Amino acid sequence: MNEFYRKSSDEVLEVLNGNLKGLIDDDIEKRREKYGFNELDEVKRKSPLQIFIEQFKDFLVLILLGAALISAFLGKLESTIVILIVVIINGVLGTIQHIKAEQSLKSLKALSSPTAKVLRNGNRIEIPSRELTVGDILYLDAGDYVSADGRILETFSLQVNESSLTGESESVLKFTETIDNDNVAIGDRKNMVFSGSFVTYGRAVVLITNIGMNTEIGKIANLLENAKIKKTPLQVSLDNFGKKLAFVILAISAFIFALNIFRGAEIIDSFMFAVSLAVAAIPEALSSIVTIVLALGTQKMAKENAIVRKLHAVESLGSISVICSDKTGTLTQNKMTVQKVFVDDRVIKHDELNHDKDLEKKLVLMALLCNDAVTVEKKEIGDPTEVALVNLGEIYDLDELVIRKNYSRLGEIPFDSDRKLMSTVNKLHDKSIMITKGALDVLLSRSVKIETSNGIKELTEEHKKEIENINKDFSMNGLRVLAFAYKDVKEDTKISLEDEFNLTFIGLIAMMDPPRIESAEAVENCINAGIKPVMITGDHKITASAIAKQIGILKYESEAMEGFELENISDEELKEKVENFSVYARVSPEHKIRIIRAWQERGNVVAMTGDGVNDAPALKQADIGIAMGITGTEVAKDAAAMVLTDDNFSTIVKSVSNGRSIYANIENSIKFLLSGNTAGILSVLYASLGALPIPFAPVHLLFINLITDSFPAIAIGLEPHNENIMKEKPRDITTPILNKPFAIEVIIEGFLIALGTMIAFHIGLSTGDSRVASTMAFSTLCLSRLLHGFNSRSKESIFKIGLFSNKYIWISIVFGYLMLAGILAYRPLMELFEITKLNASQYGYIYALSFMPLILVQIYKLLFVNYNNAHN
Ligand code: ATP
Repeated sequence: MNEFYRKSSDEVLEVLNGNLKGLIDDDIEKRREKYGFNELDEVKRKSPLQIFIEQFKDFLVLILLGAALISAFLGKLESTIVILIVVIINGVLGTIQHIKAEQSLKSLKALSSPTAKVLRNGNRIEIPSRELTVGDILYLDAGDYVSADGRILETFSLQVNESSLTGESESVLKFTETIDNDNVAIGDRKNMVFSGSFVTYGRAVVLITNIGMNTEIGKIANLLENAKIKKTPLQVSLDNFGKKLAFVILAISAFIFALNIFRGAEIIDSFMFAVSLAVAAIPEALSSIVTIVLALGTQKMAKENAIVRKLHAVESLGSISVICSDKTGTLTQNKMTVQKVFVDDRVIKHDELNHDKDLEKKLVLMALLCNDAVTVEKKEIGDPTEVALVNLGEIYDLDELVIRKNYSRLGEIPFDSDRKLMSTVNKLHDKSIMITKGALDVLLSRSVKIETSNGIKELTEEHKKEIENINKDFSMNGLRVLAFAYKDVKEDTKISLEDEFNLTFIGLIAMMDPPRIESAEAVENCINAGIKPVMITGDHKITASAIAKQIGILKYESEAMEGFELENISDEELKEKVENFSVYARVSPEHKIRIIRAWQERGNVVAMTGDGVNDAPALKQADIGIAMGITGTEVAKDAAAMVLTDDNFSTIVKSVSNGRSIYANIENSIKFLLSGNTAGILSVLYASLGALPIPFAPVHLLFINLITDSFPAIAIGLEPHNENIMKEKPRDITTPILNKPFAIEVIIEGFLIALGTMIAFHIGLSTGDSRVASTMAFSTLCLSRLLHGFNSRSKESIFKIGLFSNKYIWISIVFGYLMLAGILAYRPLMELFEITKLNASQYGYIYALSFMPLILVQIYKLLFVNYNNAHN
């Protein structure tokens, strides 16, 4: 039944009960019931229970469970219960974090899920590809992914890349004719398209024959991976760091274990203490904190129109030092209106159009025929350049649909941004004519004649000069110019690229595409943030420079370069000169790759935007490929690390700023955890080396590390955006997060907390009751680590960034404080946590000493840190 390629399109339509006007709603329902959704089966998702159990596979948790077992065995049931409670709470928190991160990644994935253009109920609409069903009429254009198998009904030079199915990287030219052969290999079924391939050129109308697991790819595909949390470079380096640190801490724990035994402590107590110290000091949560902060950060970015497709992009965003952006639609509004027309040796302004000039009308007629845009009920559908032409038709009372019906299209060569031309063959009266429109420089070199009211003449060099001057004049005002030419062809000609020569030039149409209002400000922000904005466009150099000047990307004309100039210089030379150029005009997608490489070789981190199918390699080459959500092709989106849902340059700049904040928040959160752990270790080392009693019970360390520390760490990761972050230089991507200044800060802050803790311990010891001492040490360590959360919010003082600007940190610290208060005051918990009652002055000391690191660090930040040096 799968041999649709052996049937004519009419037969396939009949077999599948299809309809050239598209399926109707009732029918779609029935088909959905019969065929299901168009999706491949996924690997079964893990249940929350499985995720919870996985939390116990951690080496340290296993040690703790072992310790709990040993305590139970020795009859120390309280310890067992406390360890179990702590481990379970830790497991629940880990599970919640995991599920939350997975959900947010899943919803991100859904936001960038593919769509398909279909004919339903007689209307052309866009639906999620998942909803495609057998019998649907699907439209394919260059850059679309084919999301189901189908028989081609109509094709205009359709070429498809089927490498994911056949391994063949060359595109295949498709046709509609029936293939009358048995056992034709997939790659040779040229009247069919297959799910998993993508359109590299042309367009087609297709009848869907198979969906989901019944497609050819469905038959060979392994089960789809779920939105898996893949580790980013930062997480990998943190994991490596964590492993190394674990060894050091295990060595310290072993040393302390030996020391305690040597001093005559019981083996089991010493063992429990060493284990708790190791568990408390090894920063096992680093990588999961990064996951949750990244996941929550990407959710925020999605709300601000930037959908992150690859999590590592968030980290690199903060290091971007060059943003290469398309012009049309990204820096400009992509709302084009015709301003001037040049025809019959005259420039006609917009308000002087349609004064009954025949040639003027002929030009507009051609502009409507060599055009795929339509306006239906005031809705504009299609390429904005072509929509502008359709709107121009209104001035002449020319309706594009009527015109296209009267002068039917016999053939076409679609527009592509390499060739910068588009041609159609139309039946005009009793002749067939090929109309070509496109970039003037390309079109003029292919024209040999010119039509004016004096008839058709040879196109002389003077004529060419004159036209080029007019074009220059238009371009200097930032106008985008399209040139038009035509030639007579035989009716049955199947036009090909070789036909786009020997043309008769007829005129120019110039349109305005104003810069987006926010572009100039975004460019300025970019420059202030040490990022070089570069415009890369297929448009004319003068037009591009004019727009670039308006928004501040370019100052001098000499900063603009054309694609052909680029071709004349070597990679080495480009690397030398690349910093001198801000605008590249008339470039083709291959040029983009060279520009990216040149910047990268100079040590820059480069972001590049793209929309077309040919942009995919450049999007992959860039450190961050950014695809356009509205105008971008599916292929471009798939290759990109990020998708802009509003196609707007300023969204890129906003994302950089978000990326920087997220990175800084992760850094701060790690600093918070590590400095707290350092404080714990320093205190224990001090007491051990000073031959003092053990300052903490094992449960104290576990309680602080696994419970009260987690929430402030996440809250720090959610610190709101600090506008000043865009005043810094981009972060050097080669500098590791855990660098020397970072380590110094962690050690100093850890030392301050340990100092307060040990003073409290000594005050407690002076009462002669070691339980008072350890209660005081534990309370001070716990409270000062909580309060230290305020310190870790930013490199600036909390009074500068706003004491109340992060509500999460308040919630987490108050929560931690209440937990601590519960342990200190609630009798059954006091027993469990080996706490004794303290008097008012002892509490006074605890509060004073706990606030000490906060106060000292804040004074230092107020006096010595201002933003210019804060993040460098
Ligand atoms: P970007 O800044 O996104 O690269 P662009 O639209 O100027 O924008 P292309 O789409 O590659 O870049 O267009 C390059 C040139 O091709 C335009 O300057 C124009 O002369 C011509 N062109 C654009 N659209 C069409 C079209 N639909 N048909 C024919 N020619 C076109």
